[in-house]
Amino acid sequence: MPSEVPDTRCASCDRLFEAHRDEPHRCTCGGPLELRSPLRSPSTLEAPVSNLWAFSASFPPGQRIELGAGGTPLVDVPEYDASFKLETCNPTGSFKDRGAALTLSRASALGVEHLREDSSGNAGRAIATYAARAGIDAHIYVPSHADASTLATIEATGANVIAVDGGRSAAATACQHASGWYASHAWRPEFYLGTATCAWELIADRHGCPPDALVLPVGHGTLLLGLYRGFKALLEGGTIERLPQLYAAQLAGAGSLTPPTDASVDPSIAPGVRIERPARQSQVRQAIDTSGGEVITVDPSDVTEGRRQLAAIGFDMCSTAALGVVARRALLERGKLPDTADVIVPITGRSRDR
Ligand SMILES: [Zn+2]
Repeated sequence: MPSEVPDTRCASCDRLFEAHRDEPHRCTCGGPLELRSPLRSPSTLEAPVSNLWAFSASFPPGQRIELGAGGTPLVDVPEYDASFKLETCNPTGSFKDRGAALTLSRASALGVEHLREDSSGNAGRAIATYAARAGIDAHIYVPSHADASTLATIEATGANVIAVDGGRSAAATACQHASGWYASHAWRPEFYLGTATCAWELIADRHGCPPDALVLPVGHGTLLLGLYRGFKALLEGGTIERLPQLYAAQLAGAGSLTPPTDASVDPSIAPGVRIERPARQSQVRQAIDTSGGEVITVDPSDVTEGRRQLAAIGFDMCSTAALGVVARRALLERGKLPDTADVIVPITGRSRDR
């Protein structure tokens, strides 16, 4: 294998795994894998950031699968006492572009020819799109009830879409038993290196000043954990002096961190946070706790209304993204974060309804 591709190590038992196109996506003990090379914080942070490859000195050397991910706008939105980081401006419309760029760069460097992923939304679209750019054959496992317009955009990349009866977990189980390199956004460690660039970009945007808090929707926690790792690297490198608090927005009765699931909640609202078994739940909870943040739960009806109000002032987004904005307002109303707090809400994905 090319020597520049980092090996991986189990976060639970420290077992080592050689970088290889047949490498596992998790340890035999069940633990998640991490890249063996430590996360290097960028030595300089300059705005504007053109795209995430501005941080390539912090990435493993080798292949680059580029479509222009990153470099997204940060805009002040006084109506919500927050700034919005518009991840909707990424090439496939969500923050998942960041992780997909690094994940497919590894796959390409390993010489992978066939990969598999399970998703019904933004992650499937991003992995399929970057696989197309890399010339890698992609098999995307989706629940049979998944959104038709999203599936059409996945199929348009030339990916093989495999519809699985029985919901999101059944699609994940079917995918895990298939062959090919598993490009899982939840399990692959380099995906979180990609999402860490969002933290670096925010500190560059703000000329070195960390915000007080970020509020964002959490399913598997691929953005929250990447942000935490990115900020932590800057803290350890002496670039910032404190971690922003990380608040995880959840839907009442249907979130990934707030069981039990209420089957009566409308399945079209915030599907991105409805993960029954998050891959890295303990790491995500630890990141929230270490940052001084919390889990914040809001009602589905508030998300529907909040999304309508956001569209009426010009911000188009999916309902999962609207959940984060509604949670920022809930933190204010519940007295947990004042209106004077310096808060960023990543707008994680754009509307699928167009
Ligand atoms: Zn292990």
